[in-house]
Amino acid sequence: MDPEPVGGRPLGLYFLVDLVNAFQGGAEVTTAGLQSLAERHGGQALRLADARVPELREAAALLGAVLDSDDVDRAAEAVNALLDRYPSQPRLVRLPDRPWAVHARTPQDAGPVHWLLSTAALALALWLAERGRCAWGRCAAPDCDRYFVDTGRRSPQRYCSPRCGTRVRVTAHRRQHGR
Ligand SMILES: [Zn+2]
Repeated sequence: MDPEPVGGRPLGLYFLVDLVNAFQGGAEVTTAGLQSLAERHGGQALRLADARVPELREAAALLGAVLDSDDVDRAAEAVNALLDRYPSQPRLVRLPDRPWAVHARTPQDAGPVHWLLSTAALALALWLAERGRCAWGRCAAPDCDRYFVDTGRRSPQRYCSPRCGTRVRVTAHRRQHGR
């Protein structure tokens, strides 16, 4: 997976999706695992270092519920509910050598999970508004339940990665040729 530039587009979503995927299928998630996930996505995400794994699992489930939606009106309601529950002050922030980007600024006393969910809600809101649809999904390949961000402009994305797409095509091809 490509490392995401902080403030890159779509804003923070690759990080969120990676985080939700880390908890998929009841996988055991360790603090060290979260740390390396956060490092792959740049400094902001390091705030999660202080979060407790069970709390993050709950947060990941909330985000997974949004990512499971392909009904744009319902998704918007779900994102608005998160924005209400985990408010932040959106700010334009410019990190060294980066373009200006929208960041969620949370109160000083807000914990890392509040920060995560307010950042997530803002990122999902901006992305939904920009694309006008639920531009995300869950992999259609058998034995894969990973979520993805759909950055495609043409047909909707079906697989989490080119690897899963190829795997499905190879299986279909074999079946077609009786092997
Ligand atoms: Zn997949």
